[in-house]
Amino acid sequence: MSSEMQEMIDQAEKDLLHTYNRYQIVLDHGDGVYLYDTDGKKYLDFMAGIAVFAFGYNCKEYNDALKDQIDKVIHTSNYFYNEPAIKAAHMLRKVSGMDRVFFTNSGAEAVEGALKAAMKYGYLGDGRTDHEIIAMNHSFHGRTYGALSVTGNEHYREPFGQMCCNVKFADLNCFDSVEALVTDRTSAIIMEVVQGEGGLFCASEEFLRKCRELCDRKDILLIFDEVQCGMGRTGHMYAWQKFGIKPDIMTTAKALGCGAPVGAFLMTEKVAQNSLVAGDHGTTYGGNPLACAAVAKVLEMFERIDIVGHVNEIAPYLESKLDGLVNKYVCITGRRGRGLMQGLVFDRPVGQIIKTAMDNGLILINAGSDIIRFVPPLIITKADVDAMIAILEPAIAMQ
Ligand SMILES: *Cc1c(COP(=O)(O)O)cnc(C)c1O
Repeated sequence: MSSEMQEMIDQAEKDLLHTYNRYQIVLDHGDGVYLYDTDGKKYLDFMAGIAVFAFGYNCKEYNDALKDQIDKVIHTSNYFYNEPAIKAAHMLRKVSGMDRVFFTNSGAEAVEGALKAAMKYGYLGDGRTDHEIIAMNHSFHGRTYGALSVTGNEHYREPFGQMCCNVKFADLNCFDSVEALVTDRTSAIIMEVVQGEGGLFCASEEFLRKCRELCDRKDILLIFDEVQCGMGRTGHMYAWQKFGIKPDIMTTAKALGCGAPVGAFLMTEKVAQNSLVAGDHGTTYGGNPLACAAVAKVLEMFERIDIVGHVNEIAPYLESKLDGLVNKYVCITGRRGRGLMQGLVFDRPVGQIIKTAMDNGLILINAGSDIIRFVPPLIITKADVDAMIAILEPAIAMQ
């Protein structure tokens, strides 16, 4: 590392709050599936800013769309309409099959909105204010209080006192554990269709179907958090679409803006008519013209390039290569995930493997301490997969 980069890192460590153990790299720019640090070192990126950069970096068409919007207006507030938001909302409705959209600035905020909508729905139903929400163990929904309340990781919640909402945790793919928690106060069940941070566990079709039927029977709202598994990553625009089991409320973010900070929660007309009304929810930046210009461009490119089709073409290749590693190395106990959202499960912490890969020019991310997660740009090619394996495998073999 150059002394210049070391100085920048030292400065950052003095100024920034220590909430991350960052890799000792200052990134400078990106191009396609590659990132470059300030020393000019090149990295193949299989992390994509945590499942964000669907088209890779420095995509001209995307950059131009944002630049054009910057020269018009980047913020207006929600006291007015703006054209990019109108366009983006309409396109998002179309690809999601949901009826109403609320734009947020992040995934966590999308979850907050989804929870508020569910609580209001319950409140309008029976006038009570003590409704309960069922969430899943190993889930991750974000770091704000509402999102944290439904996050199935005790370590994340414990230091922060009283959580909001009354939340109970069930096991993904164990319908009995969900049903056992239902009371007459249950207003919603929230889950990721494919869990991201929690370890790449996929909700089974049977589990989703039974939860859907339970919700229909008991007038409970089903919320799917598609912040990470949505936007084409699993080979469907939204992961639930694989089974056609539709939620009442859905969240999306991460790749929605492909780098522009934006998220959204969406709902069916039935929920919209029976939950949030004017004055119930708001945001200063959410749905601003710059973020929505990004969303509109991203969704337009998704359709034109058929990025979902590409994911379905390339994902089996990645899976077969990862399975090859599973078969070859006893320290790897399995592979989980769907599409371009994969995890290799190890019998030991993966920090050193990731560090070695990074030193050799490959960026990866973990999910928990024992899983290497693969959430590359959706545009990767077979050659990129080969290049990734060529760096990863020696790092595993060194263990
Ligand atoms: C990342 C993530 C969030 C939180 O999104 P932020 O933009 O970091 O607030 C919520 N849910 C899931 C499933 C996520 O992966």
